[in-house]
Amino acid sequence: MSYPSFTVTFLGTGTSSGVPMIGCSCVVCTSSNTKDQRLRSSILIQSKETAIVVDTTPDFRFQMLTHKVNQLDAILFTHPHKDHIAGLDDVRAYNLFSGKPMPVYANALTEEAIRRDFYYAFAEKKYPGVPNLRLHLIDEKSFSVGDLTIQPILVWHLKMPVMGFRIGPFTYITDANRIDKEEKEKIKGCHTIVLNALRKQPHLSHFTLDEAVEIVQELKIPHACFTHVSHQLGLHDDINQILPNGMQLAYDGMKLQF
Ligand SMILES: [Zn+2]
Ligand SMILES: [Zn+2]
Ligand SMILES: [Zn+2]
Repeated sequence: MSYPSFTVTFLGTGTSSGVPMIGCSCVVCTSSNTKDQRLRSSILIQSKETAIVVDTTPDFRFQMLTHKVNQLDAILFTHPHKDHIAGLDDVRAYNLFSGKPMPVYANALTEEAIRRDFYYAFAEKKYPGVPNLRLHLIDEKSFSVGDLTIQPILVWHLKMPVMGFRIGPFTYITDANRIDKEEKEKIKGCHTIVLNALRKQPHLSHFTLDEAVEIVQELKIPHACFTHVSHQLGLHDDINQILPNGMQLAYDGMKLQF
């Protein structure tokens, strides 16, 4: 598979509450290591021509300002949970400067939530300045945005379908606790995988750290970064030390080059 060179930036690597969590005084939430401070999970993918974010978290505006993202060509959504869509209203700035609607790629379930949660953007008579969105319905078929070709990977978040995305040697999967056999085939052969790893204790709808490590080993992916991390997982540096070779916790601001 040929692909253009691109950079992935972790805009956020925290679970839905973020780290620190409001009101918590645990050792992780009070850590002075900036790697223990995690905004809600999202990545920025940038090639020479194209800039895409995966999910618009409640921290979207701050993430775009922090990384000076002045050009944004599309938004891909993984699933409709609030920590992945809440920041969508702030695409207004991109609408204003580009004069164009923002292309949004989402599966049917997420599209339904976007139409519900951001109903005012789809009203017949719109208030001036509301977000201008162009929805593109996606399923398991690959699609292109600019010079990037994206292969969706269907994974499961308890009973909710979630879209993972593969671009060339890179796969991003968040908010999953199960990947079917056929979908695993789509991941095989990639160089780097991002997987959610919430904490050590079992969870209803997220991989634990051990489960995430097991998948990386099963699929024989040489490099792995874990995201959507809870304060319950422990200190970034402590956890990194116990991970097998080639695996690490992602942290906010971390970059990967392909
Ligand atoms: Zn989430
Ligand atoms: Zn805490
Ligand atoms: Zn979720």
